[in-house]
Amino acid sequence: MNNNPAGKPPGTDVDVVVIGAGQAGLSAAYHLRRSGLIPDRDFVLLDRAPRPGGAWQFRWPSLTYGKVHGMHALPGMELTGADPDRPSAEVIGEYFTAYEAAFGLRVHRPVEVSAVREGQAGRLRIETSERVWNARALISATGTWDRPFWPRYPGQETFRGRQLHTANYPGPEEFAGQRVVVVGGGASGTQHLMEIARVAAQTTWVTRRPPVFREGEFTEDWGRAAVARVEERVRRGLPPESVVSVTALPVNDAIREARESGVLDRLPMFDRVTPDGVAWNDGRPPVPADVILWATGFRPAIEHLAPLRLREPGGGIRLDGTRVTQDARIHLVGYGPSASTIGANRAGRTAVREVLRVLARGRSAGTEATEARAAARTTAAAPA
Ligand SMILES: Cc1cc2nc3c(=O)[nH]c(=O)nc-3n(C[C@H](O)[C@H](O)[C@H](O)COP(=O)(O)OP(=O)(O)OC[C@H]3O[C@@H](n4cnc5c(N)ncnc54)[C@H](O)[C@@H]3O)c2cc1C
Repeated sequence: MNNNPAGKPPGTDVDVVVIGAGQAGLSAAYHLRRSGLIPDRDFVLLDRAPRPGGAWQFRWPSLTYGKVHGMHALPGMELTGADPDRPSAEVIGEYFTAYEAAFGLRVHRPVEVSAVREGQAGRLRIETSERVWNARALISATGTWDRPFWPRYPGQETFRGRQLHTANYPGPEEFAGQRVVVVGGGASGTQHLMEIARVAAQTTWVTRRPPVFREGEFTEDWGRAAVARVEERVRRGLPPESVVSVTALPVNDAIREARESGVLDRLPMFDRVTPDGVAWNDGRPPVPADVILWATGFRPAIEHLAPLRLREPGGGIRLDGTRVTQDARIHLVGYGPSASTIGANRAGRTAVREVLRVLARGRSAGTEATEARAAARTTAAAPA
């Protein structure tokens, strides 16, 4: 196989490349550094976003720090004293900035990884907007934000109003006086609705399945059960569900109030979009709309791995822990069961532990090969 396509630069060798400087990538970089690897010598951390903060930097201003559920601090540095009324984009952006500086992580940004291919001498060839890297191990921590999922419904292209996704949600102000349909039964959908209902002329909530609300504290058992369910899918090579989507919606005072006032009365998914709104085939009246807001989630941003053909027939990448079953050099962190701030932290640590083993094996194989070559030279040079 020609692993170094003609005309392409040969690239720079490095032990480990980490793609993505969100929670998962920073956790991995922290553990690499702690194990003695030096940034920009032994590993590089690449991120396509313009600033520190991972996906948080792009979240809408009304998603204040007080509204995020359970943001776990990165390993080795607490996030303390944050004002719950400030946008989480700012709070977490500043925290990540301080974190990168404190541990000298030297993030290369904005650097986009376009493709990872089989390289030469057992290395992975990582093609980026900056240069090519040849790595012995790869930790891919690219999250989901860059791949918003838009379902397709008949007539969608005929709609005369505005359609947008959570990924472009600007906050509620722009919807003042409008009729808004929010699609999706997750945490984002409910948050959008509760904000927009205060200013809109009318809101309508549609979800594929009846949403499941859950009273009471988020317990560890509850979290563990959700993670186990996603883990099982990933072990079977199926596309992961998001952990948040399988944990049910925690009921707080705001949700309770919204349910009582009817803001969270939900309709089943519509069958089609019309030029003026949405419509069902079961005889219920159509709902006119100026805006359809798709709060329909995200998919893993892993297109850069496509040349390696890691996808299983089930459509997902099969993992054992964080390690890609088909290729022990590659780890996915913040993917599937580790797509939460606590999961991302743990996955970073697990991945590094295994990557160090790959590097150690490579080194001893390299040493053996060098010794064998030296022995062969000695034998050849020896007088007969
Ligand atoms: C609206 C919303 C709210 C959430 N709230 C919570 C919450 O309250 N608590 C919680 O635990 N979890 C929450 N989550 C889940 C949350 O996203 C994760 O917990 C965690 O922040 C994800 O971290 P990450 O490092 O995996 O991904 P990200 O933060 O998305 O970081 C990935 C990084 O990789 C970069 N990248 C992607 N592709 C490439 C490429 N090809 N080349 C170079 N760089 C690339 C991106 O630019 C980004 O900086 C929420 C998710 C959403 C969508």
